[in-house]
Amino acid sequence: MAERIQAIRGMNDVLPETTALWRSIEHVFMSVLSSYGYQEIRFPLVESTQLFKRTIGEVTDIVEKEMYTFNDLNGDSITLRPEGTAGCVRACLQHGLLHNQQQKLWYLGPMFRHERPQKGRYRQFNQLGVEAFGMSGPMVELELISICRKFWEQLGFANCVQLQVNTLGELAERQRYKKILVEYLTDHEHQLDEDSKRRLTRNPLRILDSKNPEMQQLVANAPKLIDVLDEKSREHFQTFCEGLDALSVPYVVNPVLVRGLDYYGHTVFEWVTDKLGSQATVCAGGRYDLLVDQLGGNPTPAVGFALGIERIYLLMETLGLLKNETNKNALYIIAVNDEAVVRGLIISEIIRSAYPQIEVSVNTAGGSFKSQFKKADKSGARLALILGEDELATQQISIKDLRNGAEQISVDQNTINQVLKDYLE
Ligand code: ATP
Ligand code: MG
Repeated sequence: MAERIQAIRGMNDVLPETTALWRSIEHVFMSVLSSYGYQEIRFPLVESTQLFKRTIGEVTDIVEKEMYTFNDLNGDSITLRPEGTAGCVRACLQHGLLHNQQQKLWYLGPMFRHERPQKGRYRQFNQLGVEAFGMSGPMVELELISICRKFWEQLGFANCVQLQVNTLGELAERQRYKKILVEYLTDHEHQLDEDSKRRLTRNPLRILDSKNPEMQQLVANAPKLIDVLDEKSREHFQTFCEGLDALSVPYVVNPVLVRGLDYYGHTVFEWVTDKLGSQATVCAGGRYDLLVDQLGGNPTPAVGFALGIERIYLLMETLGLLKNETNKNALYIIAVNDEAVVRGLIISEIIRSAYPQIEVSVNTAGGSFKSQFKKADKSGARLALILGEDELATQQISIKDLRNGAEQISVDQNTINQVLKDYLE
């Protein structure tokens, strides 16, 4: 036997038994977003490497060590998208969507990061991204938070996630803060891990984002960015926080929340859970007013968030919230021979045209009555419709309710849709 080829590590298959669950989660996202007037945008899974380097930042986890970057056959450097914001902005600029306009957009699909695979952390994973362009105040930020809260409510775990918020202020304020932070960290240089030492000169803010528990005390005692902000930035953040209060969204201010990408400024936020171990963040976002300009567009205020669908799935699984809908009206046609199968295919079309919502499976694989009944039962169907020798001879079809002990009955094939009316809920 030939050797089997396995999937690439950290890239998962979703098997038929769970696809309906994935779809039902995605359906919640999509219907909530359209109820808020957000529109879907689709863009490629692959972009020029330069797009991500220029936006995410050279000294970030993603660009330093997580990107799938290749040379294509023309020798051009291309990268599988590690996140969606850069591609979304690129597409909007390329098609003039940001020119004197506001946009409220979303996308859903796979992202790729070469990380160490573990529970809740994969090399191919799915994100839902939501981005709003052309609105500068904290009001649109409040709308994004409301959307998130609506997601959690509809999915049933609103009480298991906590909102953390922070502000990163303006670029000039961050630069001022960087000096103060570097001074503090240099004083404690002997406590820095290797990553942080490297970042000290190249991207000190990232040190606040360190996942290393040994760094956490040092980070907690560091001077706070919020303390060096000017009045205007503080006001922006205060209005945002007051809005959260007005909307009755509980939150905590986390002064070391900086996010792992360089393009953020002002409001940033994460939704975290204590149910998923160290992969605690299910959703993260913030304002990124400098990015559009950085990609060659006119300066355009922008804010967005992305959530990891696998983490949402895991969280819901942990909480016992994933339930396959039972097929309470499904029909299964049992057919004794090829002639009966053809008859069954014809009858199945007649049923589907009257009851388009109902699942009608035809057993096209033959087998004894006994084995076909077993399959019908296993499929979860409510009714078995039987076409045996007798039924073929008399142009009848038999109906057996698989979920109660009711007697099997036979009816004229022409009357099947009418008879089913009494059975189906
Ligand atoms: P983390 O701190 O967990 O590495 P991140 O800051 O790199 O997350 P973002 O780039 O903000 O994550 O992505 C937004 C969301 O996408 C995360 O909150 C998470 O839910 C999800 N996510 C990110 N990386 C992965 C991954 N490798 N596998 C599964 N989900 C992921
Ligand atoms: Mg990461």
